[in-house]
Amino acid sequence: MPLPLLYLDVDGPLNVLNHWPEEPNNLTVHRVRPQCWVRQHPNLHSDDVPELVLRLNPDHGAELADLPYELVWGTTWEEEANEFIALRIGLPALPVVTWANLDGFGPEGTYFKTAELVRHAAGRPFAWVDDQLDQADREYVARHHPAPALLHYVDPAKGLDLDDFETLAAWVDTLPAEYQPAASA
Ligand SMILES: [Mg+2]
Repeated sequence: MPLPLLYLDVDGPLNVLNHWPEEPNNLTVHRVRPQCWVRQHPNLHSDDVPELVLRLNPDHGAELADLPYELVWGTTWEEEANEFIALRIGLPALPVVTWANLDGFGPEGTYFKTAELVRHAAGRPFAWVDDQLDQADREYVARHHPAPALLHYVDPAKGLDLDDFETLAAWVDTLPAEYQPAASA
């Protein structure tokens, strides 16, 4: 078996959406204007769209790369995650899931990403970190994905933290033997 997949949402798990009066000191702040952000301001000329403030933990890349997963972007940033996020947290360019529609809802009351991630995973075990998944998504994946899956909610005010990394690493050890990655079998 190849490594399980790990789908990475950007806003929330990596771009920390905190509302604290002070910036936490483990984050670096960047101001960027990606097209995925510009498109959310259809009434403004692109030069007039305010910059998006990114709050990234520069250690996240190394911590993610240490996990026994194949990393894949699962974010509305799509290919722009490689341009604006990967290098800033120390990740190489990653494969990208692109979305057929970004309208917010998928089948059976799910988030728009859920069915598309099941399709992309194509029967491989996967984990998914996101701040917008819930029970409907877990039930959908249980019904439609034949292999184990971990849908792991991340608090967007904190981003991925030590507990999240421990949960992700421990889950791989719980995979049945037929799904264990070859290197650790
Ligand atoms: Mg998010």
